[in-house]
Amino acid sequence: MAFVIADACIHEKAADCADVCPVDCIVEGDDQYFINPDLCIDCGACEAACPVAAIYYEEDLPEQQMKYRDKAFEFFKKQSF
Ligand code: SF4
Repeated sequence: MAFVIADACIHEKAADCADVCPVDCIVEGDDQYFINPDLCIDCGACEAACPVAAIYYEEDLPEQQMKYRDKAFEFFKKQSF
């Protein structure tokens, strides 16, 4: 389980989340930031810091935002090569 950055981040990219993450697991992508689900410790600091409420605990992700969990997974899969 991890936190997920969803559609409100697209082109907003405020980056407040990356500044507060204690384990540096938030990475900038082309159109949004992504949380590495393998490194996230579920502290919730990013969710509280996001000015556009783009971040959800995975379990609380609205159905229509589920694709952002997969998008982050794909993003980090590509990064590992
Ligand atoms: Fe980082 Fe905590 Fe957010 Fe996970 S929940 S991405 S560890 S700030």
